[in-house]
Amino acid sequence: MTHLDGNALAGALAELFLGDMTLATGTCAGCGDEAELARAMVYADAPGLVVRCSRCGDVLMTVVRSPADTRVSMPGITILTLLR
Ligand SMILES: [Zn+2]
Repeated sequence: MTHLDGNALAGALAELFLGDMTLATGTCAGCGDEAELARAMVYADAPGLVVRCSRCGDVLMTVVRSPADTRVSMPGITILTLLR
């Protein structure tokens, strides 16, 4: 089986992150709830943003910004869906 290198992701990822990500639907790994990220609970008093599922409270995502970069982790989202 042949494969492409990661550069093949460029178009798809650019399209993905250009839109309003709060309209994206995340499926919670903890409880299976499917909800727009706009409905999640965001805690901004940590070193970054901690995004928790509004149904079960599990951590869906963290966003940590520094002067050098932005780090995004999505340990609690099994599927991220964006409508076209
Ligand atoms: Zn949940």
